[in-house]
Amino acid sequence: MTTIGVLALQGAFEEHIKMLERLGVRAVEVRKPQELEGLDGLIIPGGESTSMALIAERWGLVEPLRRWVHSGRPTWGTCAGMILIADRATGQKEGGQTLLGGLDVTVNRNYFGRQVNSFEAWLEAPILGPEPIRAVFIRAPAVTEVGPGVEVLATLPGKEGQPVAVALRKGPILATAFHPELTDDLRWHRLFLQMVTEAQEQASAPAER
Ligand code: GLN
Repeated sequence: MTTIGVLALQGAFEEHIKMLERLGVRAVEVRKPQELEGLDGLIIPGGESTSMALIAERWGLVEPLRRWVHSGRPTWGTCAGMILIADRATGQKEGGQTLLGGLDVTVNRNYFGRQVNSFEAWLEAPILGPEPIRAVFIRAPAVTEVGPGVEVLATLPGKEGQPVAVALRKGPILATAFHPELTDDLRWHRLFLQMVTEAQEQASAPAER
């Protein structure tokens, strides 16, 4: 049975677990490095990225998480989680903050955060089908620069009139600036599970000659 871990240091991890259970997969809380073993995918939830990074450091999780993301294991970062898996971040506190990296993007930590703390929007995300999807943004980041090969799945109008990316994917990595676990729509979770299945199939396929 597919098992998905949800990093449970801080933030909205319980809601992700409930969504995963509704989709019939096993969901477990991850607080220790050894709890990453045997997982098929990992969700890094929303919350506060600086606090989450500090707790991860204290609990010896930074290197194991880095290894996880960089070795191509399926990972989904939502909101603060998206900040942590970005290769570069702007708008950080003095001295910066620990990032795990893995996704070649530049994220602005509080892109939507300073003007409005929280808002909801309808997003067009063709990868989920023609129906727009409701998204909850809470002091939300946005991606302002995208590296080669990163697929933008949804955008919102940005401050300079240019669209900014709020959902992205590259290989086994998914990133969303909003909180899909706070709505009733399971489509983002279903997409991630599909990515996990693809990674499992690739791992078990015979190597090409
Ligand atoms: N902007 C927040 C941060 O820096 C993220 C907010 C969220 O996860 N809802 O961590």
